[in-house]
Amino acid sequence: MTPPNVFFLAIDSLRADAVFGDHISTPNFDAHASRGAGFKQCVATTTTTTPSFSSMLTGCYPPKHGVRGLQGYQLSQGVTTWSEAFAAAGYSTHAEVTGPLLPATGILRGFQESRHRPAYRVPFFGWRDEVVERMRAYADPWFMMLHIWEVHRPYRAPPDFAKRKDKAGYEAAVHATDDWLAPVFEAAGDNTIVVITGDHGEDYPDTHLEFQLVRAARRLRRGFKLSGWFPFLDNKLAGLEIGHGFALYEHLVRVPLIISGPGVAPAAIEEQVRHIDLFPTIADLCGVDIPTGIDGRSLRSGMEGGSLVEEPAYMEAVGVKLGGDRIAGVRTPDWKLLKPPSGKSALYKLNGGAPPDEKHNLYRRYPEVARQLESVIDQVNSTEVVAESGMTSEEEATVEQHLRDLGYL
Ligand SMILES: [Zn+2]
Repeated sequence: MTPPNVFFLAIDSLRADAVFGDHISTPNFDAHASRGAGFKQCVATTTTTTPSFSSMLTGCYPPKHGVRGLQGYQLSQGVTTWSEAFAAAGYSTHAEVTGPLLPATGILRGFQESRHRPAYRVPFFGWRDEVVERMRAYADPWFMMLHIWEVHRPYRAPPDFAKRKDKAGYEAAVHATDDWLAPVFEAAGDNTIVVITGDHGEDYPDTHLEFQLVRAARRLRRGFKLSGWFPFLDNKLAGLEIGHGFALYEHLVRVPLIISGPGVAPAAIEEQVRHIDLFPTIADLCGVDIPTGIDGRSLRSGMEGGSLVEEPAYMEAVGVKLGGDRIAGVRTPDWKLLKPPSGKSALYKLNGGAPPDEKHNLYRRYPEVARQLESVIDQVNSTEVVAESGMTSEEEATVEQHLRDLGYL
C-alpha cells in the first residue's frame, strides 16, 4: 500500500477554544475533528512563532534545538527535523511558509522545496490557488507544511477586508480562514493524514476597558524604564499585553490539535499532549523512523484506544516584548508553574478542565508540587546546546528587516 501523504497545517495564533469552542463557526476544522482524533488539551512549547515551529518540527524542547527567540538563533545541527526524517524515508517534502520563518532560521532544513511568502501585507489573497496547484503536482508520498498568517493580527478578514479590532477581528479571521481553506483540504486528497494546529494562542482584550489597561501598562513600562529598575514588575506588566510571546497563560499555550486521515479512528482525547509529540506521532503513523533522543513521544497507542500517560509540558515565553528575558514554565492538567528570569516562581491551579485560576499564587501552600515542577525545568535545561546563531551578518540583517516589517521590532 502507498504510504499516506502528510498535510501539516499550522495556523499562526490559533487558540484551542477558537476551534473546539462553539462561538466561532469552523465547519471544515470540525469535519476533520469528527472523523479523526481531536486533542482537546494540546500545549504549545513556546508562544513565539520560530521557536514553536522548531519544537514541532524536531520533537525537542528549545534547550535541545537551540532556537530560543525570534532573533539571533538558528536550529541546531544536532537535531533531526520532521522533513529530514520523511525525506530520508522517501517522501517528497514541501514547505509554504510566511512570517518570521525565513530560511536563515534553519527550520526549513530538509524541505526539498520551500517558499517563503511575505504575506502579511495582504492576507487572504492570491497565493492560495497557486499553492493548491503545486500540491496537486507533488510526487507521492509527500509531506507538506503550510504555515498561514491569516489569523495573525492585524485582522483583515473577507468579505470586506476591513480592519477589525480584537475579539471581533479575531473571530472573523478564524471563521474566514476555515472557509477559505476548503479547496486546500480538497487538494490534499483522501490518502493524506491531515494535521491542524496553531503555533501558539493569542491574547486580545474582550472589552474596551481591558484595552485601555494594556495601553496604561505600556506607558508605565516605557515612561519609567521599568525593565532596568524593576524587572519583575516589568514582566508582570508585560503580561497584560495583547498578541502573544510575552507570557504563558492558558489562552496563549493551549492550541487545537486535530489529526485525521487513513488509519486514524475518530476519538476525542482529553488528556494533555504536547507539540513535541506531534512529529514522533506522525512518523509512527507513517512507518517512518523516530529519531532517538528527542523529548516528545508517539501518541499512537492513545489514539488507538490505549491509555495515554500525561507527561508534563515544558514551556518558554521568549517574546520580543520581554526584552530578551525568558519565562520558563511547566504545565500538567492540574498545575502550572512559572519561573520568571528574576523574582520568585509562581504556582497556579488549573483545576483539570474547570476554569483555570492563573491569579492566585499557591507556591507557598504546595511546596512539594512546586519543587517537582521546578525539577522538570532544571532537567529540560540541563541539555542546553550552545546557543550560537550560526547566521552570517547578512542573514541576521534579513531576519531583522522581516521582523521590522511584521511589526515585532
Ligand atoms: Zn506565531
